[in-house]
Amino acid sequence: MNIILFGPPGAGKGTQAKRLEKNRGLIQLSTGDMLRAAVAAGTEYGRKAKEVMEKGELVSDEIVINIISDRLDEGDVKNAPGVIFDGFPRTVAQAEELDKMLGGKGMKLNAVVVLEVDDEALVERITGRYTCAKCGKGYHEKFEKPKEEGVCDECGSTEFTRRADDNEETVRSRLAAYHEQTAPLIAYYETAGIVKKVDGMADIDAVTKQIEEVLDGLA
Ligand code: ADP
Ligand code: ADP
Ligand code: ZN
Repeated sequence: MNIILFGPPGAGKGTQAKRLEKNRGLIQLSTGDMLRAAVAAGTEYGRKAKEVMEKGELVSDEIVINIISDRLDEGDVKNAPGVIFDGFPRTVAQAEELDKMLGGKGMKLNAVVVLEVDDEALVERITGRYTCAKCGKGYHEKFEKPKEEGVCDECGSTEFTRRADDNEETVRSRLAAYHEQTAPLIAYYETAGIVKKVDGMADIDAVTKQIEEVLDGLA
């Protein structure tokens, strides 16, 4: 089963993707995570992407399409029961390329799960977001605190990081990019009849439950 977790920045895509990895063995393919890894490694893609990401704009279609295409050919992905696209596609051109790519690899999309969240809630979610520096588990100052303050639930690390682009100013640009370039994809996938809308304003467990119900309904 291959799905897209779709929604604006801060909607909860990464949080829910990690849960689906655990519950269903699907593999999360986050172009944002892949781009941040490329930036950290100083690769050619990373150097090109860094400034664009800091401004809250979209990286070129060509770069993200190449990154995803390469990742889909790796062994762990090929052997998995399916993938979760997280943060990809973000433009109609990316969606069209993805259709071609999946067709060529004998894969198909089963659902586009749309997390619906109000813009004002997104700003609060993103500005309060932080991540375990060791294992990558995501947290929130208000909505998802570690059980013991300052200690990661998953790995026990006491070091955490925040993304350079998770500040209010950049968030506003990212939301504008979402509404202009990415939201139109919902209509694109509605034509294919695979859009499933979920109330992303609910708490984290309740959102997981809604997504699980959608996926159970596909099987
Ligand atoms: P995305 O991957 O869509 O950008 P994240 O999964 O990183 O979003 O979530 C953004 C922030 O909001 C994180 O700090 C996360 O802990 C928190 N969060 C995720 N889902 C919810 C929710 N349903 N309610 C409240 N906070 C949430
Ligand atoms: P979020 O879900 O919180 O917006 P991501 O981690 O998905 O964040 O993306 C971070 C940044 O990486 C984006 O603002 C954009 O600059 C770049 N990016 C990620 N995925 C794509 C994509 N599919 N197309 C273009 N740019 C992307
Ligand atoms: Zn950790």
